[in-house]
Amino acid sequence: MSWGRHIAPGQDNRKLPEVQVVISPLHPTRNSPCLAVLQALEDGLKRADADPSVKAVTICGENGKFSAGADIRGFSSPNKQGLGLGPIVSLIERSEKPVVAAIEGIALGGGLEVTLGCHYRIAHVQARMGLPEVTIGLLPGAEGTQRLPRLIGVPAALDIITTGRHISASEALKLGLVDEVVEENTVEAAIRLANRLIGQPLGHRRLSLKPVPKLPNMEAFLTEALVKVKKRAQGCLAPELCFQAIKAATEQPFADGVRKERELFNILLTSGQAKALQYAFFAERAVEKWTTPSGASWKTASPQPIRKAAVIGLGTMGRGIVTSLVKAKIPVVALEQDLEYLNTGRKAVMLLLEREAMKMEQGGQTLDFNNPARLQFAVDFDVLRDVDLVIEAVFENMALKKEIFNKLSRICKPEAFLCTNTSALNIDEIASVTSRPQQVIGTHFFSPAHVMRLLEIIYGRHTSPTTIATAMQLAKVMKKVGVVVGNCFGFVGNRMMFPYVQQAVFLLEEGSRPEDVDQVLEDFGFKIGPFRMSDLAGLDVGWRSRKDQGLTGPTLAPGTSARQRHGYRYSPLPDLLCEKGRFGQKTGKGWYQYEKAGGRTAKPDPWIHSFLSEYRDTHQIKTRFIDQEEILERCLFTLINEGFDILAEGIASGPEHLDVVYINGYGWPKHRGGPMFYASTVGLPNILAKLQKYSEIHPDVPQLRPSAFLKKLVAMGNPPLNDWMSYLHRQSNKL
Ligand code: NAD
Repeated sequence: MSWGRHIAPGQDNRKLPEVQVVISPLHPTRNSPCLAVLQALEDGLKRADADPSVKAVTICGENGKFSAGADIRGFSSPNKQGLGLGPIVSLIERSEKPVVAAIEGIALGGGLEVTLGCHYRIAHVQARMGLPEVTIGLLPGAEGTQRLPRLIGVPAALDIITTGRHISASEALKLGLVDEVVEENTVEAAIRLANRLIGQPLGHRRLSLKPVPKLPNMEAFLTEALVKVKKRAQGCLAPELCFQAIKAATEQPFADGVRKERELFNILLTSGQAKALQYAFFAERAVEKWTTPSGASWKTASPQPIRKAAVIGLGTMGRGIVTSLVKAKIPVVALEQDLEYLNTGRKAVMLLLEREAMKMEQGGQTLDFNNPARLQFAVDFDVLRDVDLVIEAVFENMALKKEIFNKLSRICKPEAFLCTNTSALNIDEIASVTSRPQQVIGTHFFSPAHVMRLLEIIYGRHTSPTTIATAMQLAKVMKKVGVVVGNCFGFVGNRMMFPYVQQAVFLLEEGSRPEDVDQVLEDFGFKIGPFRMSDLAGLDVGWRSRKDQGLTGPTLAPGTSARQRHGYRYSPLPDLLCEKGRFGQKTGKGWYQYEKAGGRTAKPDPWIHSFLSEYRDTHQIKTRFIDQEEILERCLFTLINEGFDILAEGIASGPEHLDVVYINGYGWPKHRGGPMFYASTVGLPNILAKLQKYSEIHPDVPQLRPSAFLKKLVAMGNPPLNDWMSYLHRQSNKL
């Protein structure tokens, strides 16, 4: 990596003798301001300053990208040379020669902070900018929190810094973040501007010397903004500390604000949350590199192109899946069982697409969905003859799914892939009725399917590597996070959720109220607690599944104990609520009460409180006070315990997979890095000890019995999470 004092490729040096073009060969892949680049920037600036023949400076990136920001791996190891980006940004700003930033491609994080030191900024029309540090638990620590509000005002700076969102060049121009947007060669435009600026005063362009633009009601604005930031953050520290840094800019001189920024940055760096968020960032990339126990892998499998897809069933899930496919520009056929269902489904899909189109328009994009070549509705399976891939999203019923797959196998072209959106059913059984089990795969979307990022991809015994690769490619095209997992009841996500929800219900039997349990888990950082979630999803969904499994309903053997199934503890509470028609939000009553059927505001329900107390009396359960620690530990540690079993069974190839599933599909707080990462921070010996304790108290709950793999890892000395899988087949003397 070198750093030259040369004119950009394609520039004619001789025509512009007075301009020094500084080319920054930034990070090899991301153009990040790594140490070598910082050093080179400093050297280049000093040389340009000292050279009287240089009259102005332009800073640009190589290969059409300004800079993707600091390499986040670098944050964990402080820079020994003591070379920081902040002082270099100041050095740029102090230059007596005009410095112009030529922003092409992306200018993110440290990259954008470099441009804030420049006296002028020119962006290409397709450039995108942002300060995404908050998303990895940090703040823009190169004086960005002090310069940006001075440039674009506090409201816009707060929005950009506390959300980390990227903005387009046109928005940047509107906000005053850039001075000019060009459609042609940005570097040439920057050189032209730099030429015009030679000899002109620069004082008013040095952001550190400017005051933060005043608001008539700054104090009230900040108070209100803090409430909003905290609400959105749900326990994540970085947005609030970003806010504090910007607030400092409104109250203190630049140098003091910079000191405050550094102080807050260091708090975040050592908070543990930044580590968790960075882990989550890399975990998401790690799961792209999928492997299976039989040796299939992303390295050798190639995806097949999907030129046309179909979705069967336009209920809750199918509607969102169709919307996602249209947004991904994949032509789609949407199929229902009859015209009545089709019309309802079509209206719902069109409404979703109209809303999506409106959102996209605000970002300057268009969505074409009124074209029959892009979206077609049908009731006849014959229209599926030419599709490359089908996603089935009919009711969760094995017999129905088998009937559909058998039909698909006969109608679709031989090379077409057949996917099922089942939540828990056996992929092998579904595949068994087709003549192409190697092309059958589970694609488990999450509700609402056009919003939720997770796509659990479940391979069966016969699923080919090509099919897995194709499903993963589909996830990517749909801008989702695909996670490849093995076939078992509930796969990864729902299987781990089951003991969590089960504990939550047991806690009600023993003395808690739904709102107590939800509050503890929401304080932990979950978007919604288990009871609010159950009301939202509908209690009838689980009821139907328990009836199918013979756990409740008419098939239950007479004389079965109310609170036991197969010798283990069982709580009939959710069944009893369903028998009373309390299905959750849809009926206006569930674990909570709502203003009306379909209402969304959950209010604690005195009826539930007296129902629970009668239930405890009937079953002679002594009500006890359950503290927050027990609620948290019993719910989370059983979920984590199941995770260890999943790893031991080879259902997922590493703990990151489980964490990515939970963060993207189940509202697990990202700043806690996912359940398995969280387990590693709590310490496996602590988790084991607590599970042993609760298991002794509740010997009839197998989910509380510590997983053999967890025990093994503890016996092996509590190795770091990255090493867990290497211990799976190792012998332990202590077991
Ligand atoms: P739903 O009841 O809302 O919709 C199912 C749709 O399938 C209905 O519109 C129905 O008319 C249609 N259908 C039934 N038989 C059909 C046939 N023979 N041909 C064509 N269409 C037919 O169900 P849903 O909630 O969308 O669930 C669909 C699948 O997705 C289930 O397997 C479910 O377990 C799974 N799932 C649901 C959720 C969720 O939160 N709802 C989440 C993940 C996965």
